[in-house]
Amino acid sequence: MIVYWNGQFIPKEQVRVSPDDRGFLFGDGVYEVVRIYNGRFFEMEAHEQRLIESANAIGLALPGFKGMGAFAQELLGHQTLPDGNGVLYYQISRGAAPRKHFFPDPPIQASHYAYIQALPLPDLATRPGAAVHTGPDRRWANCHIKSIALLGSVLAAQEAKDKGGHEAILHRDERVTEGSHTNVFAVMNGSLLTHPANQWVLNGINRRVVIELAKEAGIPCSEKAFTLSELKQASEVFLTGTTVEIWPVVSIDGMQVGDGQTGPVARQLQSLFDRGKDRLA
Ligand code: PLP
Repeated sequence: MIVYWNGQFIPKEQVRVSPDDRGFLFGDGVYEVVRIYNGRFFEMEAHEQRLIESANAIGLALPGFKGMGAFAQELLGHQTLPDGNGVLYYQISRGAAPRKHFFPDPPIQASHYAYIQALPLPDLATRPGAAVHTGPDRRWANCHIKSIALLGSVLAAQEAKDKGGHEAILHRDERVTEGSHTNVFAVMNGSLLTHPANQWVLNGINRRVVIELAKEAGIPCSEKAFTLSELKQASEVFLTGTTVEIWPVVSIDGMQVGDGQTGPVARQLQSLFDRGKDRLA
């Protein structure tokens, strides 16, 4: 597999990450995951913008960085994707320097790493609905930054898996925030709700696409938080994310959601979900 490493396209085995890399030592870095449909990048501009915002938010200067698009296309040329469907992973860490909490001064070269791998389109007819388990949101207070320091999310995802589920839904006190690697939407009294885009959630690209599609379709939609008990009463719940697109939730903590099937709002949004040319680069 050919990967991108600090300006070079090389076999993955040849990447040499320094043990001093701050990504390795501190989880000091940011990342993006971009979906590729039919050989083209989905919402690349939005991902690029979010990557730059994440880097700015952690004081990571990227002199000379021309965005992901510049090399992602070349990386794609090194990969054979069935039907052209896959994902790009792109990570920037603050680089390698002897271990000290303070940023290296003067700043050093950041470490850039990227790879592309195949990911087929979800088969909506056969994909099982998501079984989720709720748990306390023990992550930090800057969840809008797409940081590579993901231990809180990793532990939450594993806890949900250990209970036999597919994903965790997190809550701070009673307020539902998001999944370990997805955003959460719920339908209550005919309205679609999702947590506002603030420091407690990642402003997911698919979250934004779904809100836009709902507005276009005239589905009432508000960026408004809801409680755990409201979530459990919702007529529909679904998750959004780059890899899962729109994934209906069929059970929460072992209790069925609605009639345990994909609900009408999720179904409508799935059919409207737009992998079309305006979103592809
Ligand atoms: N929330 C969290 C915590 C995530 O890690 C992710 C994606 O990895 C999402 C939401 C979904 O974001 P996106 O739609 O941009 O993939």
